[in-house]
Amino acid sequence: MPTTDDAVCIRAIDYSETSQIATFFTRNTGKIGAIAKGSKRPKSAFDGPIEIFAHGRLVFSGSNRQGLATLTEFQQQPGFSNLPKDLFVLNCCFFAAELVNLLTGDYDAHPGLFDNFLEFLQNADQLRPSADLHRDILALLIRFQLDLLKEIGLLPVLNSCVNCKKTFSPAWPEIYFSNPANGLLCKDCETSFPEKMRLTKSAADCLANPAAIAQAKKTTLKQVEQALVSYFTYNLGRPPKMAKHIGRGS
Ligand SMILES: [Zn+2]
Repeated sequence: MPTTDDAVCIRAIDYSETSQIATFFTRNTGKIGAIAKGSKRPKSAFDGPIEIFAHGRLVFSGSNRQGLATLTEFQQQPGFSNLPKDLFVLNCCFFAAELVNLLTGDYDAHPGLFDNFLEFLQNADQLRPSADLHRDILALLIRFQLDLLKEIGLLPVLNSCVNCKKTFSPAWPEIYFSNPANGLLCKDCETSFPEKMRLTKSAADCLANPAAIAQAKKTTLKQVEQALVSYFTYNLGRPPKMAKHIGRGS
């Protein structure tokens, strides 16, 4: 029985002169790998070659949860044509796709996360050149990363000290984030955890209270992103490939 689902392409590689292998994040089926036979031919049932972030209605079969599914149809929605206009914006989107790929399992559906991911791409595509462009994309990326961590059950403790449970307050004299401790640490507890980074009050506030992200300065968001990259790296056991392009963001 063929399956129909909404999908976003999170990876696509050439398989032969005319075919591709693509990884899709689908709304109700989760992540799937699929072969698109003939997708690079001028006329195909896939609305042209499949590129990363291509999204729309997907029909696939042979999804016995082992090996590749076979794509039979892909009705692509208009693409996110603004993303390639700024390399940092594009890299943030690649990073989001890489994290979805690394942190979700095949056939493990997360409809809420699918909606968050599509919304992130749509919002990123709507950003326009401005002095705040890189601040704005970082704000979107951080919101998405927090949604992702929550959805997959990996969200660290961000609204209290993970050790003594004291509720976070920007009035804390010193604030730390620790990967092994899995969350924020107050000044009284930080000495017990050698592996940690110190956060500014405004960066800790963004993590404890995501509503603060919208108003945060770029320097603050860069520190928040640095903490999140380190947390992803710790949990994955290696740095995500795109991480180095994000830390470097101007
Ligand atoms: Zn504490």
